[in-house]
Amino acid sequence: MPVREYFLDEIASARRTVYRKYMYDVAVMLGADTDTAHRDVEDMMQFEIELAKITIPTAQRRDNQEMYNKMTVGKLQQLVPEFEWLVCLQRLFSHVGISITDQEPLVVYAPSYLAGLGRLYKTTDNRVIVNYLLWRLMMNWVNNLPTKYRNIKNDYIKNIFGSQADPPRWSECVDFVNVKMGNALGRLFVEEHFDESSKDTADAISEKIGYADSILVDDLLDKEYQEVDYYPDRYVDNIITFLKHTARSKLRNLRIPVDRTKWSTTTTPAVVNAFYSATKNQIMFPAGILQPPFYSKHFPKYLNYGGIGMVIGHEITHGFDDRGRQYDKDGNLVKWWDDIVIHRFKERAQCIIDQYSNYTVPEINMSVNGLQTQGENIADNGGIKEAYRAYRKYVERQHIEEKRLPGLLQFSGDQLFFINFAQKEKGDKREDVDDEDEEGEDDVDDDDYDYDDGDDDNDMMMMMMMMVMMKRRRRMTSVVRCYAAPGSHQQNHDWSAQSRQI
Ligand SMILES: [Zn+2]
Repeated sequence: MPVREYFLDEIASARRTVYRKYMYDVAVMLGADTDTAHRDVEDMMQFEIELAKITIPTAQRRDNQEMYNKMTVGKLQQLVPEFEWLVCLQRLFSHVGISITDQEPLVVYAPSYLAGLGRLYKTTDNRVIVNYLLWRLMMNWVNNLPTKYRNIKNDYIKNIFGSQADPPRWSECVDFVNVKMGNALGRLFVEEHFDESSKDTADAISEKIGYADSILVDDLLDKEYQEVDYYPDRYVDNIITFLKHTARSKLRNLRIPVDRTKWSTTTTPAVVNAFYSATKNQIMFPAGILQPPFYSKHFPKYLNYGGIGMVIGHEITHGFDDRGRQYDKDGNLVKWWDDIVIHRFKERAQCIIDQYSNYTVPEINMSVNGLQTQGENIADNGGIKEAYRAYRKYVERQHIEEKRLPGLLQFSGDQLFFINFAQKEKGDKREDVDDEDEEGEDDVDDDDYDYDDGDDDNDMMMMMMMMVMMKRRRRMTSVVRCYAAPGSHQQNHDWSAQSRQI
């Protein structure tokens, strides 16, 4: 399950039942004895609950400075003596010919979790641990098994994430190829469907637009996949080949210097999303997002500013959100702001946290976790404001408002700016689902924040906010001022109370 609270909170007990059923059904379908499967599933569930207890809540993992614990393998061995770290790492890296000593430096993001894990490992029965490891493997493999297995997973996904319909098989297969061979597929996408002028127009704004030029060079593209041989009639072999290729590439990275000018390997051309990487101080807009409804050279400017303009603003603002601000212009984690500036920033961020914590989904009586979602909310608030200002500047330069849209003449350019923004924010999940994408961990580097983070709470709230802006523009000023003026919490609360009336 995607978040630790699903394992711990009383209110999530129905979800734990769904998850138990998922484990049990897959185990039995693979041939397990039903009584044994019941017992083993229960043991694994208890083990995962213990793992959840030692897991640090996501909302408390936003201070990267605090999480950055640099040490040697030898030091980690002292900290968590229950595992043979050096032996383990040596065996792992021997696959790519890299030798590791106990002086190898590493960064431990959660020492207390690892210490807890060491203790848990010592007190847990080996059968439970082996079952759990195999279950984790199978969970990844279910997608690649015959329909009867995938049906079990789809039932689980529907109940946990709230998707109403199974994705069509073709869509899953295209996604699979896009994730596994993104640049090869991206090359075909760019050649067939991408308007080259979209890249040129946006090039003035940033360097990572559309796709890496290397994908158009046959030799470089071939080199990227030279280790992998795919066969049209050997599906499972192809998957294993790919997993090995990915694992080896990642391991080799240990001895390759960071190249900040390169496209992130996980950001492929055909993805409809945008990214900011704090460690590279880089914004990325793949070819997939430089299309309607986000952008078209044929669109009136109000649609482009409300679409891709807001996304660009969102990504740039990530460089200054609660996590992005911790990295300097070269992407190094150093304190580069004065204490007084940090203090003032935190006051303003608190305003955003309070505002979003006040939003409630009435059907399930749950509130948005304002602390955890603050990075996205800061980026959204900054992005829409920057894009709107930029649009007004554009209009001022033209000395005349843009023409309205035929058929929608009742809406002004300003209103259509917000309508296009709201249009692309709408999601397709049930309202009570959480913000984790079940496949998300494969998709993005740890340090990338993506524009479409699947945060449905946020999406819905932004839709509400847009509706309020559209209907009651006067009241919108208190939202905007909330971002600009710290300490105006009272106005902030008033505004969210009004929004609930809609
Ligand atoms: Zn974002």
